[in-house]
Amino acid sequence: MQFAHDTEVALDGAAALVNTARGGEERLTDPDALATFLDRERYSGTRRGDGAELATVRDLRDRIARLWDTEDVDQVVGIVNRVLSDAHALPQLIRHDGWDWHLHLTPRDAPLVDRIGTEIAMAVADLIRAQDLERLKRCAGEDCDAVFVDLSRNRSRRFCDLGNCANRAHVAAYRARKAGRAD
Ligand SMILES: [Zn+2]
Ligand SMILES: [Zn+2]
Repeated sequence: MQFAHDTEVALDGAAALVNTARGGEERLTDPDALATFLDRERYSGTRRGDGAELATVRDLRDRIARLWDTEDVDQVVGIVNRVLSDAHALPQLIRHDGWDWHLHLTPRDAPLVDRIGTEIAMAVADLIRAQDLERLKRCAGEDCDAVFVDLSRNRSRRFCDLGNCANRAHVAAYRARKAGRAD
């Protein structure tokens, strides 16, 4: 199953958002930190840049994080539908800035949290329809709780790419093998 490019971008964006709170550390500390995150993830459209907007994005992040923490499809569906209805999603075909016809779920001047939320919700809807929710994974690295979306063909990815998790695990496994031989 191949996903549309914009679906994959949105899913990676969802993981990036959840990871701003990984390891119990808040990285969206103030509106400037949010602006940096939005620029890095290339979110366009209007922003207020105030504390109230930041609070709504953090709240959305908590709801989105739950998608990684449940295996229950009904619960995932509930979260997705709730995000879409809270944002008053109203799909409209639109053509702008050199992009051919595509769907917008909210007006371009809708609150930031609604635009981020609907984009993520629609991408997760694609995963649900493809029965591919197990692609939402947490890193298998020791002491790492980062999330990622495994878009590999055979769904074999185990580690995030934020730290050195895969490498550290390989070194640990190598040492364990070596220790085993030494006995
Ligand atoms: Zn557009
Ligand atoms: Zn990791």
